[in-house]
Amino acid sequence: MTEEKIKYMKKAIACARRALKGGEVPIGAVVVYEGKVIGRGYNRRLKTQLASAHAEMMAIDAACRKLGSWRLPGAEIYVTLEPCPMCMGAILNARIDKLYFGAYEQKGRSFTDELANANLLNHTVAVEGGVLREECSAMITDFFSDMREREKRRKEEEKTRNAREENEREEKE
Ligand SMILES: [Zn+2]
Repeated sequence: MTEEKIKYMKKAIACARRALKGGEVPIGAVVVYEGKVIGRGYNRRLKTQLASAHAEMMAIDAACRKLGSWRLPGAEIYVTLEPCPMCMGAILNARIDKLYFGAYEQKGRSFTDELANANLLNHTVAVEGGVLREECSAMITDFFSDMREREKRRKEEEKTRNAREENEREEKE
């Protein structure tokens, strides 16, 4: 079972890399049913400019289309990051049995356990967090530190440019 978990989380990580390629926050998800991946998704919020373009939503939509059903009992979902409340809602709506996630949401904005056990829609979801946790969280922290680094460089370049323009103006006066 542990091997299975790792295998599918690695597939979710592969999806997250596709997000990363597009310059998006690297979050990926797969839906697994009877030992097969039936839906894949990755964060596409920037590209689509849609608030709902989260990895889990895309993976669940793909899985529903594949099975021709909005209900996915017996299915499991693997996500690289602890889901937000919208995606937990979709997981419950799709009657998915079990959620595995990798990295924990750091800012305490998730209500994963509360929503999983609230018996909304007469359905509860089993949750296991921390699957390949380090790999999943490193991907996200690396993304943000790269972004900060790029932003810093951009600001420094801007400062240098401004200083040069300032100098040129002074020389003319
Ligand atoms: Zn979400």
